[in-house]
Amino acid sequence: MDIKLISNEEKKNRITFSVSGIDIAYANTLRRIMGFEVPVMAIDEVEFRKNSSILYDELFAHRLGLIPLTTDLKAYTMTSECKCGGAGCASCTVKFTLKAAGPCTVYTADLKSKDPDIKPIANKIPIVKLLEDQEVELEATATLGKGKDHSKYCPGLIFYRIPDQDKDEFIFTVESWGQLTPKEIVIKAIDLYNSQLEEFSELVKKLE
Ligand SMILES: [Zn+2]
Repeated sequence: MDIKLISNEEKKNRITFSVSGIDIAYANTLRRIMGFEVPVMAIDEVEFRKNSSILYDELFAHRLGLIPLTTDLKAYTMTSECKCGGAGCASCTVKFTLKAAGPCTVYTADLKSKDPDIKPIANKIPIVKLLEDQEVELEATATLGKGKDHSKYCPGLIFYRIPDQDKDEFIFTVESWGQLTPKEIVIKAIDLYNSQLEEFSELVKKLE
């Protein structure tokens, strides 16, 4: 196996690299794990105290869920694998609050996180426009999730090209939405693949 970096565009959150000496099944497995199994943070539950905006609660919550949040995979675990047993705790969830009154435009900067390391990737993403006498007050909870469960948990756009059908060479492009760096996505995917293979190997050993 050989891997070569083709480009690293930090501003665009994108890396391109070529991998040779692997087959298409392996390349496709890596692509799928990167896109659909590497977890990232997203808002998953919203409790509204007030909402007189034009967006009804479900639509508002859906918009909040799609905001990419910076993700720290060392500090947080998936709720399903957490020591709290799935109840939700400080190791697997992050709370956000939002309070605004019109007339104004509510931006991602108005979402206040309890953890300064987990926040929207940009401050100026518009959420809703409030008119005179309209207001919003809510508490939201973000969790780690996987793209295979909901597209809001996708870490980015991941694809590969095969420049020459006669050669085992795959040109991968990994473009992050901003939650993780492209390199973190690749490294986490390889970690996940390794642990899946280990689990598989343990299960095979138990076969009789
Ligand atoms: Zn927990």
